[in-house]
Amino acid sequence: MSLIERAITANRKNAEHHDPSLAQKPAPKIAILTCMDPRLNDLLKWLDIKPADADVIRNVGTAATADVVRSLMFSIHVLGVREVMVVGHTGCGMEIFSEEEFEEHIHKQCGVWTVAPDRFHCYKDVNLVTQKQVLKLRSHPWIPSNVVIRGFVFDLSSGKLSEVTPKVERVLDIAHQKAS
Ligand SMILES: [Zn+2]
Repeated sequence: MSLIERAITANRKNAEHHDPSLAQKPAPKIAILTCMDPRLNDLLKWLDIKPADADVIRNVGTAATADVVRSLMFSIHVLGVREVMVVGHTGCGMEIFSEEEFEEHIHKQCGVWTVAPDRFHCYKDVNLVTQKQVLKLRSHPWIPSNVVIRGFVFDLSSGKLSEVTPKVERVLDIAHQKAS
């Protein structure tokens, strides 16, 4: 039986004991941007954050894309979230290829070149790329400055988080020096 068929059967059984209060308005306290990697599926449990308290936004490579900002607009400006965690991880699939190599790989699989997506967000250094995602979100004019944004790397071997939040003041200083 396919997993989807199994899931449908399980749902019919589980729905008999469903808690209808789940239909009430959500009230998340935090938004977490992380990778879609299945090894991170228990991240909330490891961080001791209740599922109801977190908007979890996931894509491969933990990329702060325009679509992630779209989701955050709802978290922040509709639901009142005031803390954002960006959680990259060790051993991500996005480290395997360069942008060009990945495009070549897809081309080999599909036999055609297309115009979209124009970026895959491949990277080599998870600490650096996670810092970049924090800075991209931090600099977004629709994310208020009182919203805390912190970056972390989750080590799949040790199960520990390391904080990599860049010092924004320093980055802004450098930007200012370059501008003047
Ligand atoms: Zn990943």
